[in-house]
Parts: sequence; structure tokens; C-alpha cells
Amino acid sequence: MGLGACGSLGCVYLGGMSALGLFGEERAVRVDRYARIAIERGLDRAAGLTYGIPVEMGNLRVGERVRVPLGRGNGLADGYVVEVGIDPEIDPGKIKAIRSRLSPEAVGAGGMSEVLVGLAAWMSGYYCCPMGMVLATMVPAAVKKQTGRVVRTLVERSGGEPITAPKGMTGAAWEAIKALGDDTFPLGAKDLAALIGQKNAGPVNRLLKMGVLREVRRASVRTASGELPRHRESTDVPDLTDAQTNAVDAINTGLGTPGGYLLFGITGSGKTEVYLRVIERVLERGESAIVLVPEISLTPQTSGRFLARFRGAGVAVLHSGLTASQRHAEWARVSSGDAQVVIGARSAVFAPISTSAHKLGVIIVDEEHDGSYKQDQLPRYHARDVALKRGHMEGCPVVLGSATPSLESWQNARRGRFTLLELPDRVGGGRLPKVEIIDIAREWDDLRRGSSRERSMGNRLRHALGQTLERGGQAILLLNKRGYSTVVCCTDSACGWKLECDQCSVLMVQHKSTRAGADGFVRCHHCLAQQLVPRVCPLCENKAVRRGFGTQRVEDELRDGFPALAEEGALVRVDSDTMQRAADYFRVLDAFREGRARVMLGTQMIAKGLDFPGVELIGVINADTALSMPDFRASERTYQLVSQVAGRAGRGAASGSVARVIVQTMQPDERAIRCAARHDYVSFADRELATREAALLPPAWRMARVVCRDADAHKAAARAQEVCDALQGAAHSAMGRGGARIFGPMECPIARIAGRFRVGIEVYGESAAVVQGILASARSMGVVKSDARTAVDVDPVALL
Ligand code: ADP
Ligand code: ZN
Ligand code: ZN
Repeated sequence: MGLGACGSLGCVYLGGMSALGLFGEERAVRVDRYARIAIERGLDRAAGLTYGIPVEMGNLRVGERVRVPLGRGNGLADGYVVEVGIDPEIDPGKIKAIRSRLSPEAVGAGGMSEVLVGLAAWMSGYYCCPMGMVLATMVPAAVKKQTGRVVRTLVERSGGEPITAPKGMTGAAWEAIKALGDDTFPLGAKDLAALIGQKNAGPVNRLLKMGVLREVRRASVRTASGELPRHRESTDVPDLTDAQTNAVDAINTGLGTPGGYLLFGITGSGKTEVYLRVIERVLERGESAIVLVPEISLTPQTSGRFLARFRGAGVAVLHSGLTASQRHAEWARVSSGDAQVVIGARSAVFAPISTSAHKLGVIIVDEEHDGSYKQDQLPRYHARDVALKRGHMEGCPVVLGSATPSLESWQNARRGRFTLLELPDRVGGGRLPKVEIIDIAREWDDLRRGSSRERSMGNRLRHALGQTLERGGQAILLLNKRGYSTVVCCTDSACGWKLECDQCSVLMVQHKSTRAGADGFVRCHHCLAQQLVPRVCPLCENKAVRRGFGTQRVEDELRDGFPALAEEGALVRVDSDTMQRAADYFRVLDAFREGRARVMLGTQMIAKGLDFPGVELIGVINADTALSMPDFRASERTYQLVSQVAGRAGRGAASGSVARVIVQTMQPDERAIRCAARHDYVSFADRELATREAALLPPAWRMARVVCRDADAHKAAARAQEVCDALQGAAHSAMGRGGARIFGPMECPIARIAGRFRVGIEVYGESAAVVQGILASARSMGVVKSDARTAVDVDPVALL
């Protein structure tokens, strides 16, 4: 037993320190074992630091939160126990002792299960992120701070019974206490008194004194109001179709064992019903479930179906609109086992399920292709992949659902790593809409001969919209660009000037605003810098003009062109400028569902998971926004966007008339667009996979990207060169394990953001292990690490 007396420890370890006070603070502590603690700071020590466990601390368990002295100043820091009972690798006399444990018994105190600690360790390694930052991401700050926590004193029955009722208490009241069910207790003294018809808590207090009742202290979380509005959803359980039955049976057979399932079904094919049935079975087994959905589709409608079906088992909803105390309260309900179903966005994958009484039984990732599952800051994790890892560690299935699966998942299904489950038809026989592809370049040529005004919609789409409105129908219009004009440039095309942000190498976008005069202002969508709209070209002093269409400008065009839309509320615009809060979004969705709004115009926000049976027309104003991106996934994204938005039309068989989808594009022959118009995912995906394989791109090969950022362009380039050399060297020594390629250093497609130059290096490897090996070796040399100047992105989804 090492006697880590801090007096002597102080002498050795703190020698030379002038702060005498520390000796006073560092009491002599007897230490009998050692633990590894991951501290919630950006220290890049994947394994954590070693500390002594004071004898009086008793049994310390992996996943508990503790407070420890850190560094030369012995300032206090919080961290998680990641390993207990280790051999100290250094002189035990130099090891500090854990200061205190952070209320492990408190409601949702932020303790973690062993599996989650293991998951954190895996993420720290895989995503090249300090363990402490992973842990900081996994548990919400509100939980760690215990926001809203209150400790109340309650009473419960002691078991012994008195001979007679105490004085002042009628016999009937005493009989009433005896008759109460066990689950009534514990409760507040006043509440108990009221329950048995007493005016005050006096009699209850007397029973406490007599020892018939006793006091217990219970922590709970008090929350502010402001819940997610709850929709009344029917609790009717439909009979499953054959395809649904097959899917449910396959997944249910796999419960209790790890495995990946890809539920591939067009919109409206009944995927959600499959999830509900699987969860039903999971609950019967006494287990819990996690359902991940993209933040934007976490509508009252979605959560309402789960709430209605599983009211008894308890449903916790985690979304970004929660207040700190609500977030804490929901977390605590999961952790205590009061809620067995968790539905939430990306970070709900870390829900504290196995710290509770219920084992995790299934993880469902709906719309698994969605880009919002990838976090774009440290740790740069992908919730779908973390879900798969967690499922593997917890020994439960993971179900990925989509109408347009990511090629990563499609490849896994094709190679037999996932079980592929298909729902090929719409429930109730609703038909998929007919999609027309319009060559917008040709329509523009015709238009130009007629009028000189720039328009975002060609004749075909305008005509169709006019007819729809005349008939009293509803339409959805998609344009994936915010703002008014997307370009401010010189009238003289020979001059070629375009307004760029001072701090970023991107064009500024004009926005109109009643507050900023008729022209509005221009804004950079990356650093959010704003300025007035320039009137002349700074190079040649010709007039500056505004070109290109954002949603705001199309809104004007629609109001001018269609009298039916001039009316207040008839046209709603849905983009991140108008939808600042979740409540705005829900309000607009309701207005559209109830028919008060006739046309919904918006960015990709509207392409996701919404269900409007009455929509007759869907227009994609410009399908090329994603195609023009310098990214090998451009084609995949275009397919997803067009196909998802087309899926919003004619969902209900009841809508009668066949809905119409019109897609405007400059590249009418592009395969992504052709396939999306035919609703032919399989042809698209198989061809696209073959293309990626031939080009050694993900998902055939794996990838990581390192971006060096610096306000000084030379420094950014020099660092990138250093990183690149290290990665080249590592790739060379990793040769034996499989093919690898390093590209770079090269200027990123957006060469500068917020004043910092960006130089990137791309690492490609035949397998994840190859990429991991290369990164680990460069990381151990200290050349590659995630910090403010260097971003390491493993399995990146955005390459700008
Ligand atoms: P998805 O999640 O694939 O878009 P949903 O599960 O939301 O599909 O189903 C679409 C609609 O069909 C929902 O209104 C749902 O209640 C209904 N539905 C699902 N399965 C059935 C079924 N077997 N019988 C009747 N209606 C069903
Ligand atoms: Zn900028
Ligand atoms: Zn000019």
C-alpha cells in the first residue's frame, strides 16, 4: 500500500513552490489504490492522468465524476474515472490524490456507464480529439452544473404501526394513511396531510416524531416552462404491411445481439411504424431505446407519435430548444430509468441509458444520410457511426433508416455488413409523383427574347404554380440559397469584379432588410460580417449590380407575380434567416398543414421529413446548387435533395390528384437528377459506388482531412507542409497494412475564413485501420493534433 501522504508528497512534488498555503490545503491523505482520470480540458492525453484514491473514498467506479488537483498550482479540475486499480507507472510519492467525488448519488449527476467511458476512449482515438473534450461533449453542461437541482425532504412509512392514532388525528385519517399504496411514498409532508384531509402538516409531524413515518431526502430537477409543443397524435396501431412485418421480424430476431440494419424505404413507406414496433418489443424486454433524428425533423409531429405510443414507458425528448434545467431534467429522467425511450438530435446518441436500470435495447438513426449527424467542431464525430459503435459495445442492434441512404451505408449493405430491409411501396398504395426535368438554360433563352427581367422560375414552373393556386392547392418551392441577390458585381463583365468578404474568400450575399434602406446590406455567410451594398465597382467605377437568386428575392418575385400570394401569410419563407427559433418553425409548419399558407418557399430545411398530404406541386428552383460544389459528394447530395423534396408530394392516397414535381436545372442530363426523377435510388447508388471505387474515394476508401489555419498565409503553408511530411512518412511505414495516399498541402476550396488562411492535406487509406494508423503515428510524433490552428476531420462530410 503506497502511503501517499500529501505532506511528503508536497515536499517532493511541490518543492520550490512559494505558495505555502498549499501545504495547509493538501491534507495528509492515505491512498490505497490508483485510478486514471480523464480531465475535462484539452489535454491530449488519451489515457488520462494517474491519481491516488483516498482510503475513505471507498469503492470508486469507472464513469464517476471526481475533482482533482491539477498542475503546479494544484488548481482544481473535474474529470471522469476511466480506469480503477491500475499500477502507478511513476513514483507513487509523486502521485496526487483525488480531492473529492462529485455527488454520485445525485439525480443525473453526470456519471457515466462503463460503456460510455469506453465509447469516449474510442472517439478520442478515432476522431483525434482529447478525451476531456469528448467527455465534455457527451454530458451536457447543464447536467454537470446540476442546473435546476433541488433537494426536498419527503416522508415515507417506516413499516412499524402505532397502536392508536395520535391525538388530533381522526381515526379515519390514520386509516387513510395506512390504506395508501406504496407508490404514493415518498411525498412532501404537506402533500400527505392534504391527501388525508388534514388542514396542516401537524399530525404528519407527530407521526414522524413517533417514528411511524420517517424522512428521506430526494433530489429532483425543477424546470422552467416552455416545453416542445405536444401534438395530439392518434394511438391507433395499424396492421403492418408484409414488407413492414418482414423488417420488424428481422430486427426483433436480432435484439440482444449487435448488428447493423439498413431500412431502405421511400418516404411514406412506413419506416416510422417499423421503429415503433421494434421499440415496443424492446420495452417488453425491459430495455430502453434511443431514436436519433436530424434536429430539423424533431418536430412536435415526430416526437408526438413516440409520446403517444410510449407514454407509459416514458419518452424523453432532447432538442436544442430546451432550457438548461429542462435538458438536465430530461437527462435525469433517462438516467434514473423514468424514461425508457429517448428521442433527440445528434448528441442524444450519448443518452445515459445504461447508468439506469434498463439495458440499451436498440438505437435507431432516422434519415441516416443527413449531414447534420456530423459535428463540425471538436470532437468531429458522426452520430451514425458513433451509434454503430455504441450498439456494438452495448450488444444491441442499430437500425439506420432512409429513403436515400448514404453511400457509406449502402456499401455496407451491399457488402453484407448490414442487413438490408426494404419497404418498396407507399403505405396504402399512394403513388410517387411524376417528376419533370426542365432545362432552365433553354427557358431563359426564350425568356430573354421576350422580356429583360431576370426571373428565377421558367414558364413551366410559373404556369404550374398559377394553376395550382387557381385550384386552391398548395405548393412547396425549394431553393437552397438564402438572401436576396447572391452576387454583387461590376456591370462590365470584362472588369469581372465581384464583391468578396474582406476576411473570407467567399462572395458576399445581399440581404434586404426594412431597417437597412431599400438596398439592404451584404453579408458574409461564413464570418457574418456585414456592410452596405456598394453602388459602384471599386476597380473601374462602373455601376455595381446585383445578380442571382436567394429565397428572399424569389419571395418578392412570387408576391409580384401571383395575386393569391400577396395576402398576409399566404406565402411562407423557411430558411435560417426567418426561422430563428424552433417555435417559429413549428408555427409555420402548422400554418401550412392547416392550409392557411398556400406556398412554402425554403432552403433544404423544407426537404426533410415533413408530411403534407395536400401538396400538389413541388418546384426545385435550382437543382444545381449542390452540383457545383467542389466535393466528390456533390452528385450524391443532389440526388438526396431532389429525391427528398420530391417525396413531399402526393404522400396520401387520399389526395386524389397526382402531384407534380418540376425540377429546374442547367444540367438536365446529370445522372443524379435523371435517377432522382425516376425515383431510382438503386441505379444511382450502384453506379456512384462504382465511380467512387474507381477513383479510390470514400466509401470505397477511407479518408481524413487536416486543415492548418493561420492569419499568416506563410505560417499556414509551412505548418501544412510539416504536417504533410509527417503524414507521408507515416503512410510510408504503414504500407504493409494496405494502400494509402496523401494529397497536399493545398489551398482549401475556401482559402480563407474569418481572416485565417486555410491549407489542407487529405489522407486516403484502403481501410479505416490504415487511416487510423497514419494519424496515430503522426499524432504520437506530436505533429498532428487537434487545436485552434489545426483541424483534424476523420471521415469528413464537407470538404470546403
Ligand atoms: P415513413 O417514416 O417511411 O415516412 P410512416 O411510418 O410515417 O412512413 O408512415 C406514413 C403514414 O402511413 C403515417 O401516417 C403512418 O401512420 C401510416 N402507416 C404506417 N404504416 C401503416 C400501416 N401498416 N397501415 C396503415 N397506415 C400505416
Ligand atoms: Zn467573411
Ligand atoms: Zn468593374
